Amino acid sequence: MRNIYDLTLKELEDYFISIGEKSFRGTQVFESLYKKRLNSFDEMTNISKEMRKKLKENFSLHKIKLLITQKGDKVNKYLFELEDGNKIESVLMFHNYGISICVSSQVGCNMGCTFCESGRLKKIRNLLAYEIVEQILLIEEETKKKITHVVVMGIGEPFDNYENVLRFVKIINCNKGIDLGSRHITISTCGIIPGIKKFMEEEGQVNLAVSLHAPNDELRRKIMPIAKVYQLDDLMNTIKEYIKKTNRRVTFEYIMLDGINDNEKEAKELVKLLKGINCYVNLIPYNETENIGFKRSKEWKILAFYDILKSNKINATIRKEFGGSVDAACGQLRANN
Ligand code: SAH
Repeated sequence: MRNIYDLTLKELEDYFISIGEKSFRGTQVFESLYKKRLNSFDEMTNISKEMRKKLKENFSLHKIKLLITQKGDKVNKYLFELEDGNKIESVLMFHNYGISICVSSQVGCNMGCTFCESGRLKKIRNLLAYEIVEQILLIEEETKKKITHVVVMGIGEPFDNYENVLRFVKIINCNKGIDLGSRHITISTCGIIPGIKKFMEEEGQVNLAVSLHAPNDELRRKIMPIAKVYQLDDLMNTIKEYIKKTNRRVTFEYIMLDGINDNEKEAKELVKLLKGINCYVNLIPYNETENIGFKRSKEWKILAFYDILKSNKINATIRKEFGGSVDAACGQLRANN
């Protein structure tokens, strides 16, 4: 049985048309789910009993299960159990500008980035759209607060699960539902070129972030196996094409690994690589995990790296840190605890 949280507004309208009803019934149900947050078809009293019965026969309203909430300083971590018993995590961050959620898009991840905890468990399966949507619904229910920003930066590679992730975006972006503005949604990829190409054809203003982490192929291949599949040259050309086509600025994520990619040499190479591109660089102090040997760059090196970018007119920020207290920081999420 299809989960109703997996349907876009259009599909719900089409469903009602297919059973001989008016399409606005679809809108009513969509609003019941996302505006009123009703948790059963019986409560949807603005549609007939018969229609409710049909919905019950055709759709499941089952939600994934929130197992554990860990509260830290300005950050919460959530562990969910899916219907098949797999587990995923998401992270909620309280900023001064709003509340952002970092959602997972897969159970496990196949990208194998050497520094990332999430990738130590190979991909078991893709998440369906409803399993990503429900991370938002359940967390809003738990916190009684409205989430204002979404980043698809939890466990998984979103462009290795393209259709479901884009379906998720469509559902939460819809103004008859959760109504999260596309400019408040960011998808982060390790650099899957065919995904970026498809993404530039999509409507809307969803942000793209690319995990770069190294300014040349040799180094990138050492820490990110995906770099063996997609060369940096091709990746950068695709990104330039993306910017030209969409007029949108791209974010580059660059984790700072002590002695690996944080030297003056790499900073200068990065300047060369990004010169003239409409982008900004997010320098991420590496979060150490007990299972992986990399160390976080020294603070002075992060600042020196940042200065080189800035003095060469590359927009950059050093990522504010979240989540360390509850192991919820980037790369610390695990698929199966
Ligand atoms: N697969 C996607 C999204 C998930 S990872 C991607 O690669 O972009 C989200 C971000 O966290 C990526 O930039 C990733 O490289 C980074 N990250 C992974 N492990 C980290 C760690 N231990 N410390 C800091 N950032 C990390």
